[in-house]
Amino acid sequence: MSHTVYNFSAGPAVLPREVLLQVAEDLPDWQRTGMSVMEMSHRGPEFMSIHAQAIADLRALMNIPDDYRVLFMQGGAIAENAIVPLNLLRGGDQADYLLTGQWSAKSAKEASRYARVNVVADASRLPAPHRDGETGSFTFVPDQSQWRLSREAAYLHLCTNETIDGVEIGQAPAQGTGPHEVPADVPIVADVSSQILSREIDVTRYGCLYGGAQKNVGPSGLTLVIVREDLLGKAHPLCPSAFDYRIVADHDSMYNTPPTFAIWVAGLVFRWLRRQGGVAAIERRNVEKAALLYDYIDNSGFYENHVRPQDRSRMNVPFFLKDPSLDAHFLKGAAEVGLLQLKGHRTVGGMRASLYNAMPIEGVRTLIAYMKEFERRNG
Ligand SMILES: *Cc1c(COP(=O)(O)O)cnc(C)c1O
Repeated sequence: MSHTVYNFSAGPAVLPREVLLQVAEDLPDWQRTGMSVMEMSHRGPEFMSIHAQAIADLRALMNIPDDYRVLFMQGGAIAENAIVPLNLLRGGDQADYLLTGQWSAKSAKEASRYARVNVVADASRLPAPHRDGETGSFTFVPDQSQWRLSREAAYLHLCTNETIDGVEIGQAPAQGTGPHEVPADVPIVADVSSQILSREIDVTRYGCLYGGAQKNVGPSGLTLVIVREDLLGKAHPLCPSAFDYRIVADHDSMYNTPPTFAIWVAGLVFRWLRRQGGVAAIERRNVEKAALLYDYIDNSGFYENHVRPQDRSRMNVPFFLKDPSLDAHFLKGAAEVGLLQLKGHRTVGGMRASLYNAMPIEGVRTLIAYMKEFERRNG
C-alpha cells in the first residue's frame, strides 16, 4: 500500500514501523551469523543473549523488583486463565474475581473449573451510575466499597484493561485491614494484556501480572508472566510441567522451546520503547491520544462512548454511531482512506479504535478528521 495507513486493530496490533523495518533487515542474517533468529538453537549463545537482553529491558522499563520473576510462556492470556489457578491457589480452593468486562468474566468462568470462584462484583449486573442505573453491559468499574471479598481467597483476580468493553483500572485496589480492603496477604493477580507498557504500573502492588504479547509488546505466541518469587512452588499436582511457574522460572523460560521469533521482536519493541523515553514518556502520549478522541466523541452528538469517563480505557475506545445502519458505510470509507481495522468487537458492535503505543498521534488526528467529515456528510 502506497499511502500511509493507520491500523487500529485491538490485537494482534500495530507494531512500531522502525521495529518492522529492523526485523525485515535482520531477518535472513542476524548479526552476521548467517542465520535468522527463527533458525537458531534457543540454547545457543546468540539466542541466549537476545533472551537475556529482552528480560533486562522489560525489567528496566517496568521497574520490576528483584523478587519478581519474568517468565516468557505460551498459550496467551486465555491459557493463563487456567494456569493462574493451577499455580496460585497454593493448596486453597477459593479465589476472588472482579468482573469489569468480557475478559475478566471469561477468566472467572475458566477458573471455576479449578476453584470455588467468588465474584466480588459483576459490573454488568450492577446499576451503572452514569447511565440511569442501566444494567447488562460493562461500562464502569464498581467502587471498591461495593466489593464482597471472601475471607478465604487465595488471590484476587482482575483485568486492568478490558480490551473489548474499553474499561480500564488505573490503580491497584487498596490493600489493608479495612472492611473493603484486600487483605495484605492476598496477592492481586491481573490480566494486563492490553495495558502492559502503556502506563506506569506499580508491580509491587501485584502478586502476578500476565498478558499476551500481541497488544502492546510484539507478535502473538508469546505470553508474559511477572510473578512474585514467594508464590512459586505450590502448583497443583496436575498442573502441566510446562505451565508450572516454578519449573518455568527454574529453567529461565526454557523448560520447553520458547517462541524465539516472538521474543526477539518483543525485545526490539522494548528497545524502541526505551528510545522513546520509557513508559512514563509513552504514557504521556497515550493520555494525550485518548483525550483527543474521547473529547471529540463527547462533543460530537453524532458518536458516543458508553463508559463512565473516569473508567475509560486509554488503549481501546469503543464508539457507536447513533444510527448503526451507517456502520458498514463508516468502516468502508475509513478503510479507503487508510484507517484500518476499526470494526467493533462482534459482541459489542459499533466501532473500536485501539490506540496502542505504536499508534502515532497523527493516526488519531486523521481518524478524527475522517469522523468529522463522515458526520458532515451523513449527520
Ligand atoms: C486479547 C486479550 C486476551 C486473550 O488473549 P489470547 O492471547 O488470545 O489468549 C485476554 N485478555 C485480555 C485483556 C486481552 O486483551
